[in-house]
Amino acid sequence: MNDPTAHAPITTSHPTFIDTEPSMTTLHYLTLDKSVQTLHSADIDTFARQISGGVLTRADASYDDARKVWNGTVDRRPALIARCLQTGDVQAAVRFAATRHMLISVRGGGHHIAGNAVAEGGLMIDLSAMRDIRIDAARRTALVGPGALLADFDREAQAHGLATPLGINSTTGVAGLTLGGGFGWLTRRHGMTIDNLLGATVVTADGALRFASAQSEPELFWALRGGGGNFGVVTSFEFRLHPVGPEVYAGLVVYPFAQARQVLRAWRDFTMQAPDELSVWAVLRKAPPLPFLPASAHGTEVVVLPLVYSGDVAAGERAVAPVLRFGDPLGVAVGPTPYAGFQQAFDPLLTAGGRNYWKSNNFSRFSDAAIDLVIESAGRLPGPECEIFVAQLGGAMARVKPDATAFVGRDAHYIMNVHGRWSDTGDDERVRAWARQAFQDAAPHATGSGYVNFLTEDEAERVAASYGANHARLQAVKHRFDPDNLFRMNLNITPAAIPVAQAST
Ligand SMILES: Cc1cc2nc3c(=O)[nH]c(=O)nc-3n(C[C@H](O)[C@H](O)[C@H](O)COP(=O)(O)OP(=O)(O)OC[C@H]3O[C@@H](n4cnc5c(N)ncnc54)[C@H](O)[C@@H]3O)c2cc1C
Repeated sequence: MNDPTAHAPITTSHPTFIDTEPSMTTLHYLTLDKSVQTLHSADIDTFARQISGGVLTRADASYDDARKVWNGTVDRRPALIARCLQTGDVQAAVRFAATRHMLISVRGGGHHIAGNAVAEGGLMIDLSAMRDIRIDAARRTALVGPGALLADFDREAQAHGLATPLGINSTTGVAGLTLGGGFGWLTRRHGMTIDNLLGATVVTADGALRFASAQSEPELFWALRGGGGNFGVVTSFEFRLHPVGPEVYAGLVVYPFAQARQVLRAWRDFTMQAPDELSVWAVLRKAPPLPFLPASAHGTEVVVLPLVYSGDVAAGERAVAPVLRFGDPLGVAVGPTPYAGFQQAFDPLLTAGGRNYWKSNNFSRFSDAAIDLVIESAGRLPGPECEIFVAQLGGAMARVKPDATAFVGRDAHYIMNVHGRWSDTGDDERVRAWARQAFQDAAPHATGSGYVNFLTEDEAERVAASYGANHARLQAVKHRFDPDNLFRMNLNITPAAIPVAQAST
């Protein structure tokens, strides 16, 4: 794993906040409008007594660890870190910040590429210790704390043979993933993570605790399902669970890059009529030293087709068979696999601390022209950790109406992510330029929408397009629950100037 603190900060919209007069008795912080204000040690002591896990400042030994997030390019120093253990802590933290107009950030699993979990000079509300998960196997529901990681959730639910759709990297936080939408191997069969959300407990900007569900605060519940962290701090999620596994038919089929065009066209045609139980993604990258690949292929460009059939294992073998015939595979490693294990299969390639920059496009169909452009971009990979992946979606996800939840992109049958990943600061601009170019080249074939969970901090202008026809309604909900935009360290939805009728109820 790389050490993110070994690199200079690369932040575009968050210049380093320098506490010019640090002392034992005062501490400076940034307000919502980025002016500098002073806190006295008595205020900090009083605040610290209200937070069960304590409050960290730069003087604390664990401060540097607590401010780290997944993306190593993010190197920000909050004035205070509130280590919350319970809902009351979160309420106290929100009230403390709101009273002082203090910039707030909310940290779940710390995985968002934009690094909005950490506010330079602000108050970081750290939920990472709130990882409690309670499964009700009889009702097939789960109560999940806001610091839980996907691995925590899968482990507890799979103990009962159950699961809900989550993402493909097990160290991701359930909270951020859910609030932005959430998709993974089960999405075509059981919908997005938000489609399985039954309710959420939320601390809103006024410090009040609200329960949002289809029956209670339905407009807030609608907004939470895709609207990100804009409406408050979620302290508990309730999910619906489905029987899954414990074994699924899953694995990887790897083709040589020379066959990329033929393989990707066959993959595209196959995925357009695949059963909901089956998801096949496409990844173009340099081959890691996987034991089932010939050594001569290691480090060369390949097309990897990771796949999961989440229904009956024997049916999975039959459903997957055509994927092995898209060309002449370099290697095949598919078979019955523990679902929870496959959920962790990509973790070694996605460890925390590496430098990362993403650009992503949504596609309703993946045209021949788009395929050719993706292959061209993959032919110029700027490093051994860089990749372009295309997730196959559709199925149950696409059968939900675009206005049923805040997440509008139900026509995104394919989501492409250009993943620049590197370790040397000297490569920062080279890798970013590659990712931007690959994104731009493919953009004319994409829907023009985006997925907020994949947007970088320099893509604020894509937020409105990502919500499309739902954006105005989201702004109205924002106006009702957070009129001062206290929760702005996110892919921000600004409050409507005049609320529409839907939000005034
Ligand atoms: C390696 C990797 C793989 C990924 N794979 C997938 C995938 O397969 N599918 C997919 O859909 N996404 C995927 N993602 C994207 C992921 O969904 C987002 O990064 C998500 O925001 C991560 O959530 P987090 O809690 O870990 O992040 P954080 O950075 O902690 O949170 C992100 C933002 O969410 C908000 N937030 C977090 N917790 C709360 C809360 N309790 N209340 C209110 N607001 C909150 C805040 O605004 C915060 O800035 C992946 C990300 C990474 C880095």
